[in-house]
Amino acid sequence: MSVATERTTFESLNPATGEVVAEHPIHDEQAVRDAIERARKATAWWRELGWTERRTRLLNFKGALTRNLNRMAELIHQETGKPLQDAQLETVMAISHLDWAARNAQKVLGQRTVFPGLMSINQKCLLEYQPLGVVGVIGPWNYPIFTPMGSIGYALAAGNAVVFKPSEFTPGVGVLLAEIFDTAVPEQPVLQTVTGLGPTGAALAGAGTDKIAFTGSTRTAKRVMAACAEHLTPMVAECGGKDAFIVDADADLDAAADAALWGAMANAGQTCIGVERVYVVDSVYDAFLGKVSEKARELRPGFDREAAYGPITMPGQLDIIERHIKDALEKGGTAVVGGADSVRRPYVEPVVLADVPDDSAAVCEETFGPTITVHRVADLDEAVRKANDTSYGLAGTIFSGSRARAVEAARRLRGGMTSINAFAAFAMVGALPFGGVGESGFGRIHGADGLREFARSKAVTRQRFALPTNLVSFSRTEKDMERVLRLVAMVHAKRHK
Ligand code: NDP
Repeated sequence: MSVATERTTFESLNPATGEVVAEHPIHDEQAVRDAIERARKATAWWRELGWTERRTRLLNFKGALTRNLNRMAELIHQETGKPLQDAQLETVMAISHLDWAARNAQKVLGQRTVFPGLMSINQKCLLEYQPLGVVGVIGPWNYPIFTPMGSIGYALAAGNAVVFKPSEFTPGVGVLLAEIFDTAVPEQPVLQTVTGLGPTGAALAGAGTDKIAFTGSTRTAKRVMAACAEHLTPMVAECGGKDAFIVDADADLDAAADAALWGAMANAGQTCIGVERVYVVDSVYDAFLGKVSEKARELRPGFDREAAYGPITMPGQLDIIERHIKDALEKGGTAVVGGADSVRRPYVEPVVLADVPDDSAAVCEETFGPTITVHRVADLDEAVRKANDTSYGLAGTIFSGSRARAVEAARRLRGGMTSINAFAAFAMVGALPFGGVGESGFGRIHGADGLREFARSKAVTRQRFALPTNLVSFSRTEKDMERVLRLVAMVHAKRHK
């Protein structure tokens, strides 16, 4: 259900053409509270449905979304400017996550028994994960369906109602998503979308929902967290990154160059897990730089069908990208492809930078544009060290011919996900959790962890019979305690090698 108690309105624009895509209401604090109120009623109904009924409805939601895939993708294309095929792929990824969450919720969260341990052998132990209630989801514009679905799909599957606030740049995607949900679940407003600007998101964050799932910049995450503090609302924060891509001496260089370029330039580089820094082992540095540069020169931004990627969606980001390129060149970096004049509003042509000092903005801050810095390193160890030298910690990529070395290095990369010999393969896998450390945020979406993020554990014990010795009774004797201490010593005192 899309909430429509208009006060004032705002327009979403096509960033490539400047044309108005649609007009949407700005939902104020009261409208957000009303939506949460409706969600509170809906969540009771949704919870009572039980696992099987919820699963069926969510699979029907998935079916409806799949039947509307092209309509959704066209809207994403219009609102973000990204190529239609990228928008289709993004929608496919959202669909597969919704499917995984729907099919696995009961297995991950449903009631099970656990072994009580020797000291509590007379207890039957039940564990289940119950829904939180109402989850507020605040989403970004760069992947306007894939990213929020990582929270929305998993929160719904866990039994919660959701109030979704999409980015002001992509409100239509959120409205359409809720409309499609309504066709599959017409009974109650279990998924609602509220539209507006930053203050609408702030109203949702401060309204005392049972959790906020925020995806966006680290700067805004801090504000949202402060708002959540008011009601002690827990939060999951999926924020920005400065992801590294490592090329080992024995890597397949063609495949590595292809993946690095896609990771850096697809969606005009506006990807939280996008490749921003590339560390290449000395012996293959020149060959890799040559390949990646050659391929980069072939890419062209635009809004037509042949364009490799679209415009910069958020106009303000163009200044940041330009500043990073200029700063890198002023500090001694070399533009191997493009340069400062690659910023041609609203587009940015591909930029490959080499010899950029580690303290430049292009190496330290999230650029969020179709630019990469390529660095020479002595070996894999130095690559990992440099990759980890950032306050962010989201994801990373390693290309290597050695399975053991790559896995060992992958485990040492600071961040929630690493992909070996492919770019961001984990993002498509429903069973794998997604999330960062440090300035990239905390908490997890996707996978079993993503389901548990939107549920709370409930532990129940049922005494099946009384033990001869009751330690938690005033009838306990000294002899009882001596017997127990002897037993504890027998079981726990031995030394282990
Ligand atoms: P922003 O932080 O600008 O905005 C994110 C969301 O927060 C938007 O819906 C925005 O609304 C809303 N918002 C703005 N101000 C407030 C506020 N005070 N209280 C509550 N909500 C508010 O991020 P972007 O939309 O620019 O997204 C890009 C960022 O997101 C990048 O840093 C990127 O790395 C990160 N990101 C992280 C991902 C991850 O999974 N880790 C995935 C995708 C992106 P409005 O747009 O209306 O202002």
